[in-house]
Amino acid sequence: MSISRRSFLQILAQIPVWVTLPSGVVAAARLRVQALRHWPEPERTRLVLDLSAAARFEAHAEKDPPRIVLRILSADLSQSIDQRFAGEELVERVRARPVDDGVELVIDLKRPCELNSFPLEPNEAGKGHRIVLDVSPRLSEHEQAAATAERLSRIEEVRRSGDRIVALDAGHGGEDPGTVWGRSLREKDIALEVAKLLEKRLHKQSGLRPVMTRTGDYFVPLARRQQIAREFGADTFVSLHVNAAGSKQARGVEIYFLSLKGAVDKAARELIDRENAADIVGGVTPEKVQEPIVDILMGMKRDRTMKESERLAEILLRRMLEVGETAARGVKQGPLAVLKSIDKPSVLVELGFFTNPTDRKLLANSRTLDGYSRELARGIVDYLA
Ligand SMILES: [Zn+2]
Repeated sequence: MSISRRSFLQILAQIPVWVTLPSGVVAAARLRVQALRHWPEPERTRLVLDLSAAARFEAHAEKDPPRIVLRILSADLSQSIDQRFAGEELVERVRARPVDDGVELVIDLKRPCELNSFPLEPNEAGKGHRIVLDVSPRLSEHEQAAATAERLSRIEEVRRSGDRIVALDAGHGGEDPGTVWGRSLREKDIALEVAKLLEKRLHKQSGLRPVMTRTGDYFVPLARRQQIAREFGADTFVSLHVNAAGSKQARGVEIYFLSLKGAVDKAARELIDRENAADIVGGVTPEKVQEPIVDILMGMKRDRTMKESERLAEILLRRMLEVGETAARGVKQGPLAVLKSIDKPSVLVELGFFTNPTDRKLLANSRTLDGYSRELARGIVDYLA
């Protein structure tokens, strides 16, 4: 039987290319599903899958039984995935198994959920290709209305209290660790620890009411942080971060307030780029990543807010020097997206440098962090007095 040239090409097209390659290359040629990460948030759960390359995938939510099925085409598993999540409100168990055309991931849910899934590209923080699955409860109209009413009444209660509202913003979180040092020091953890200590201290002050933009290890987009503060009618906004630099010498506390112009020096520019990249690192759907600064801030109100921000920054910096060997690097200005607010003084506190041995020792010590919370609380009280 003779084979025509055309059908020969058809047969050739059906032979997987990898059969002709050495075995080491075969493994590399198939996409690999490497790991699963899990970030529960107050109203949803984010699951993130690490992949060795960009994937073609299909994901959907099913109601009965409640579960999510994700199929990744032309993929293999690097390791078996079978995880149960105790104490988690939405996700019961995640299992992955090889199927004919790739890998299937089944997420057993505790209740019917909505799914938002999207891919993320590799980023400068060292993360590779990922698939993000955002899982949130499927609410009936009635439940939706009840949830909204509850949220609004919580906000109303705060707004009507007559208290001065202080928004505390622990930088980064979830997929975005911020600056890291070794295995144990992560900016997102230190920021949250200081924010929680500060929250506790401000709660004890009569006439003051702290509001947190995040309360756990999950990512909140930059614009959402100011939005939360605005919903609660915050009078001030304090964002907490940890610094890093190329030089070991750089150390001390820096407090930033907003400017619409570029940074004054290279170090500040690098810091601003790093902080403004949080949305990309943390995993905001690409089209939702905002331009760092939109020129909506104008006129006298803006000038007054910026002057007040500078005054708050100066008070806080002076206070923080009371803690141990803490050094001051100064009050600075830059186009930081998270500070974009027309209605309240907003500052970003860089607590110190992981890259400097003295600062690192301070940041790794929970007594120092408690000291920072004490002095920041005093500074906020001074400022609002
Ligand atoms: Zn940061």
